[in-house]
Amino acid sequence: QARYQGGNNYQFYHQRLATTPLERLQLEKALRKAVINNEFSVDYQPKMNLHTGIIDSVEALVRWRHPHKGVLDPDDFIPLAEETGLISAIGEQVLNKACQEAAAWRQRGFGDISISVNLSSHQIRRNDLYDIIYNALQNSQLPAEYLELELTESMLMEDISHAQDFLNQLRSLGVRLALDDFGTGYSSLSYLKRLPIDTLKIDRSFVAEARQGETSPIVEAVMAMSESLRLNVVAEGVETREQLHYLESLGCDYAQGYIISRPLPASEVLTLIRHSNLQTLSQATDAVH
Ligand code: C2E
Ligand code: MG
Ligand code: MG
Ligand code: MG
Repeated sequence: QARYQGGNNYQFYHQRLATTPLERLQLEKALRKAVINNEFSVDYQPKMNLHTGIIDSVEALVRWRHPHKGVLDPDDFIPLAEETGLISAIGEQVLNKACQEAAAWRQRGFGDISISVNLSSHQIRRNDLYDIIYNALQNSQLPAEYLELELTESMLMEDISHAQDFLNQLRSLGVRLALDDFGTGYSSLSYLKRLPIDTLKIDRSFVAEARQGETSPIVEAVMAMSESLRLNVVAEGVETREQLHYLESLGCDYAQGYIISRPLPASEVLTLIRHSNLQTLSQATDAVH
């Protein structure tokens, strides 16, 4: 399956959903309608704190409930949404939903679950993003420290001094910032040091190298780098126990991936989190007795 990784992967999704210019036009039309009709939903994928075994955060991942084609993954429509600028409207809907969901969880006594939301380069080029995030926090009453925004290196590389100012502005809201798919871009150490980033998310292609108990030089390099820069590390795409143990042994802070859970609708993810955390807590109690 092709993943969207920037400007040159368009042909992959075109082949699957829109092969001809006409089909592409139809998809674009459907996407515009989807924005108006609010056809997007958000699934949530848990992240486990490897120091405590507790799930205390989730990543919001958009889905398109297409009226005829069923539920579509982001890879099928995010590239076109980027190209057409519709991503800004979609992203705003996702951000608002995610903040409201996280605030509702807190009100229902599920404790401190942080939420992360992906941003696209189109969104960060607009000057209303600050207000959009501010409003999402105001409207939901979610405390800003429970919101993390995920950006990619390539988005920020385009204009580093602008990125620096802009990220500082976002940070002043109290939100946290993460670099997504880390390792696939070209950021240098000195460049990273200039950005007010809290978290590195190691791309799942590097985590995959350690699937069967092998080691991954890149994962270990990122761990060393994060230590000297005092950044949190999340490993993406963790699928096996071997990977989980390997990451734990390296001192990795968080794991996200199918071994813990696939992305789930809000109600299901809450059940999973409660179940998993109760089990972890009771195991900890057993260990004491
Ligand atoms: P991402 O931010 O790197 O999100 C992680 C992707 O990896 C998700 O795919 C998730 O389902 C998948 N994944 C998680 N664990 C595993 C695993 O153990 N193995 C494997 N093979 N895959 C795993 P998804 O939901 O299809 O999202 C794909 C990408 O679409 C995301 O990558 C993100 O870049 C983008 N995206 C998703 N939601 C949004 C959104 O609201 N706004 C924007 N701008 N982009 C979004
Ligand atoms: Mg992400
Ligand atoms: Mg990622
Ligand atoms: Mg990734």
